[in-house]
Amino acid sequence: MAGEAILIIEDNPTNLKLVKILLLAEDYEVRTAVNAEEALTVLATFHPQLILMDLQLPGKNGLDFTRELKSNPKFKNIVIVALTAYAMKGDEEKAIAAGCDGYMTKPISVVEFPIEIAKYLLKSAAKTKKE
Ligand code: MN
Repeated sequence: MAGEAILIIEDNPTNLKLVKILLLAEDYEVRTAVNAEEALTVLATFHPQLILMDLQLPGKNGLDFTRELKSNPKFKNIVIVALTAYAMKGDEEKAIAAGCDGYMTKPISVVEFPIEIAKYLLKSAAKTKKE
């Protein structure tokens, strides 16, 4: 697969750079934002199949922003995968409860990451087909 649109929302420059490089290497169309506000600006003109959502964002956190997107008919079909550095017990449950479709822990594995992303994009394609 290639060409699928992905939005990365991540405030850590090092993580953002790594994730972006890995996705560009798979020929995805990638946009980035460092917080919820910037993400909304990007989403006004860019329609991703997948959002990678850092949960620890400055300003509105990733869980609240996910809830907001999932309650908006315009965005509710976008697959959202939570990214968090804090693999705390209960974090995955919190992410799913907020509406995230999946969960990944940082640091990401450069080997596993593209495989996981491809799986989530299949999920996105299946979701779109159903409607
Ligand atoms: Mn962060």
